[in-house]
Order: sequence, then structure tokens, then C-alpha cells
Amino acid sequence: MSEAIHVLAVSKLSPLWTPQLHAAYTVHDRLHETDPAALERLAPQIRAIAASGESKVSAELIARLPALELISVMGVGYDGVDVAAAKARGITVTHTPNVLNDDVADLAIGLALCAARQLPQADRYVRDGSWAAKGPMPLARKLSGGRMGIVGMGRIGQAIATRALAFGMSVAYTARSAKPGLPYRYLPDAKALAAESDVLVVITPGGAATRKLINAEVLAALGKGRGEGILVNVARGSVVDEAALIDALEQGVIAGAGLDVFENEPQVPERLRAIPHVVLAPHIGSATGATRQAMADLAHGNLQAYFAGRPLLTPTPEYHTA
Ligand code: NAP
Repeated sequence: MSEAIHVLAVSKLSPLWTPQLHAAYTVHDRLHETDPAALERLAPQIRAIAASGESKVSAELIARLPALELISVMGVGYDGVDVAAAKARGITVTHTPNVLNDDVADLAIGLALCAARQLPQADRYVRDGSWAAKGPMPLARKLSGGRMGIVGMGRIGQAIATRALAFGMSVAYTARSAKPGLPYRYLPDAKALAAESDVLVVITPGGAATRKLINAEVLAALGKGRGEGILVNVARGSVVDEAALIDALEQGVIAGAGLDVFENEPQVPERLRAIPHVVLAPHIGSATGATRQAMADLAHGNLQAYFAGRPLLTPTPEYHTA
């Protein structure tokens, strides 16, 4: 591999990827932010972008890089990349599917359990002396045997479903289309699914097509007029109308929520942080050492394959339809 190949790292990348990246290429770290004039000079040499799942790769940035051929994203979601602009220029986008399915599914179940059984609150109850001072905690909600609704029955959605079965839960789902090969009930939209779910897990891609898919109406259906239902979001903050969710939690429309993702990360609204029956995580769906290493290796493997003229390991679906 040639160090003469120039790569622009568009955000702070994982330390599990950067050593391999710097060993193989000439890497310009966030030059578009730190020294736009230098980027202007180097632009004709930059052939690839290295990005994380949260990186923004705008049409404007793509237009500034005339030699750009490949965008390698370390993450399965690539809603930060202007795919239409990349595709129009024949630029390939790769991502890192599958290697993170287990971790994200584990976290979805973990958040569902935490929200139902109030585990973070229970921990605090012991630590702050409330147990000794006030006696037993208020009763929580049962998860096992309940109805799980999954919004997005793709790679991760299916991994969540198999875990839900182990909890004796029934599984139903919605997606853009029914999956006849799967043994779960399909419902046509999120509202219909919410009305028949005790726990609604959101695991679609982000982007314009899913923006605020989970709105006040869906939350009202989840609550069933009795303050029931738990929402778990491990997808993207944009998929849930965060203001409507805060209202629903404050007004007791739903019973609780477990959230890994937010509309304006890393900012989480004070009102949301103040709600006691919500469990919050700082976007840690794939954040284990083993999985992040596998994602880094795959993101790097895509760059290596491309510049060696080998088939890409994991191009995004848009590439296949280009
Ligand atoms: P996937 O295999 O592509 O599955 C996506 C699913 O969402 C598919 O079932 C798809 O429906 C459905 N979907 C897409 N657009 C929809 C819409 N407008 N309405 C309803 N359903 C829609 O993707 P994946 O690998 O499971 O990953 C899903 C997403 O999880 C990623 O894109 C990323 O945003 C998020 N994620 C989050 C974390 C985290 O750290 N919290 C980690 C990894 C991934 P069809 O099957 O009918 O096309």
C-alpha cells in the first residue's frame, strides 16, 4: 500500500483505526476544519475520506475534493454522508454492517430491561441510602412474556428479535416491506405496531426518510391511554420527535424510555435529563473493544481493497444500484 495515497479524516477517528490508517496512507486529520486553505492546495491529491458513523460529509465538502473516489465509514449508519452527491460523482461509500449486530441488540435489550425494571434507579436507591431510609422501592414492570414491537427489521432488528424470544416475548415489526421469510407478524406502520406493543424498539437508519417517524401519535398509541409502554431508541436521534417524547414522558403518556441516541448529540435537553423514568446512554450501541476493533478493521479493509483493485468488502446498497 502506498503512503502516497492521500486520505482526509473528516472527524476524530477511533484510536483502533488510526494506527493502521497512518501506517498505510498520508492522512490529513480534519484539515477541512483546521486549515481550509491547506485543504484547497491538497484537494487535487485527496482520493479517499475516512469517516466515523457520526461524521458529516456534505455535498459541499465532496465538491471541494475533485480527486475523491471513496468514502469509508466506520459505522453501519452513514446518514451523515450526502450519498446522492457521492453517487452523482461516482464516488463509492462503504460502511461496517453485521460486525456490530450483537452489541447493538444487547444494548437494546439492556435498555428495555433497565427501563422496565428501573435498574439505574435501583442502583441509586441503594447507594443514596433510600433503601434503609424508605424501605422497598416502588414496584416495577415485567419485561418477560410481554409484546415487543421492532421498528426496522434489518440486520440489528433481527438480532433484537431473537433475544426477545429468549425472554418469552412475542415479536411483531414494521419496516418498508414485510419479510415473508421471518416468523414475526408484520404491521404496516409504527403507530399500528405501537398500539400492540409493550416495548417499542426503534432500529431503522437515520436520514430524511425516517425523520420523526416516532411522533406524538405513535407515542400515544404506545401508551394506550393508560400510561403504558416503553420506548427504546438505538437507531438515530432524528428518528424520534424528541420534543414530543419529552412531553409524553412528562405527562405520563408512556411508562418510560431507554435512549442511546439523541437529536443533537452530545447535547441532551435538561428537561429529558430531569425525567426520572428514562434511562440514558451516550451512544454506546457498538462501544465494546472487540466490536470497535472489528469495525475499524472492516473500515480499513475497504480502503485497502479499493486501492489494491480488489472487490470492496462492504459497500453500501447505493453502490450496488449505481
Ligand atoms: P439494515 O439492515 O439496513 O436495517 C434497517 C431496517 O430499517 C430495515 O428493515 C428497513 O426496512 C427499515 N427501514 C428503513 N427505512 C425505513 C422507513 N422509512 N420506515 C420503516 N422502516 C424502515 O440496518 P442495520 O444494520 O440493522 O442498522 C440499522 C441502523 O441502526 C443503522 O442505520 C444505524 O442508524 C443504527 N445503529 C445505531 C447504533 C448505535 O450505536 N446506537 C449502532 C449501529 C447502528 P426494509 O427491510 O423493508 O428495507
